[in-house]
Amino acid sequence: MKPPVFEYHRPESLDEALELLATLSDVKILAGGQSLMPMMNFRYVMPAHIIDINRIKELGEIHRVHDGVKFGAMARHDQAKKSEIILEHCPLIAAGMEHVAHAQIRNRGTIGGSLAHLDPSAEWPALLAVHDATLRVQSKSGERDVPILEWSQGFMTPNLVEDEMLTEITVAIWPEKHVYGFAELARRKGDFALAGAAVLLDFDGEVISRAALALLGVEVGPIRMIDAENLLVGEIPSDELFREAAEHVTVVAGIDDVHASASYRKKVASVMVRRALEQASHQHKSQALAA
Ligand SMILES: Cc1cc2nc3c(=O)[nH]c(=O)nc-3n(C[C@H](O)[C@H](O)[C@H](O)COP(=O)(O)OP(=O)(O)OC[C@H]3O[C@@H](n4cnc5c(N)ncnc54)[C@H](O)[C@@H]3O)c2cc1C
Repeated sequence: MKPPVFEYHRPESLDEALELLATLSDVKILAGGQSLMPMMNFRYVMPAHIIDINRIKELGEIHRVHDGVKFGAMARHDQAKKSEIILEHCPLIAAGMEHVAHAQIRNRGTIGGSLAHLDPSAEWPALLAVHDATLRVQSKSGERDVPILEWSQGFMTPNLVEDEMLTEITVAIWPEKHVYGFAELARRKGDFALAGAAVLLDFDGEVISRAALALLGVEVGPIRMIDAENLLVGEIPSDELFREAAEHVTVVAGIDDVHASASYRKKVASVMVRRALEQASHQHKSQALAA
């Protein structure tokens, strides 16, 4: 099926795009088009106007900033997977991108599109949650910053109003020797995950000095497992410690849908937490052996 008729706009600058958003109604922004175009073809959404932001050059950049990394909203999944800046400062993000869809979709899909679409199983929100990301939203009348954990306002509902655009995302980076883990379960490679976990750990000798742990696929938005993080800090990694941390998943409510029940998603998430923690701990051991 083809999409219904719409008027196409292709601004060359952010100001032009914000002006269009302020003046038009019944609008959708077109980023990578990997979710929007299927939804239009199925006629789930039928906007009167499309604003294609692919020509706005500054939105496609990834930069190192003083204590973090800044992504333009149009940075593509594949760009993040291969970026030297990401591989050096936030390698978990590059590792997570391996799990997003297929190569063709990663070539076009964007960080901003993923965050605005806000599928509960998307990898970006969880990867950004462990990095305490801040999302910059702009409109013609101003701008505001939204912490990643306040981004989801319900099922596939981001913290955005009609004339606003997500323009950039800044993540805090961790010390050079931090370690990470990412694990998810999908029915087939490239499918959305049933559930997954992203982990960052830092160590003081053998002891975990800092931990960040987020889940995807179990709630409508990304969630940080703060109790599990607190349990990990000050401890030496062990199977028992990781099992105990993974048990914290049981406190999450969980979501049911046609793909899986909440209880199944939580079981899967709990196993993914353990796997992600084991990956991180293994990396730490390898670093210690190499030192
Ligand atoms: C077969 C298939 C498998 C997939 N598997 C996965 C997967 O495993 N994991 C995963 O995370 N994703 C997956 N995706 C989704 C993919 O990652 C999309 O790229 C992503 O969800 C949307 O990004 P986009 O840039 O293509 O956005 P678009 O499709 O262009 O837009 C999506 C929505 O976001 C809005 N939007 C876009 N940019 C902005 C902005 N800057 N400000 C405000 N609103 C904006 C649009 O108006 C639209 O409503 C899959 C997609 C397909 C088709």
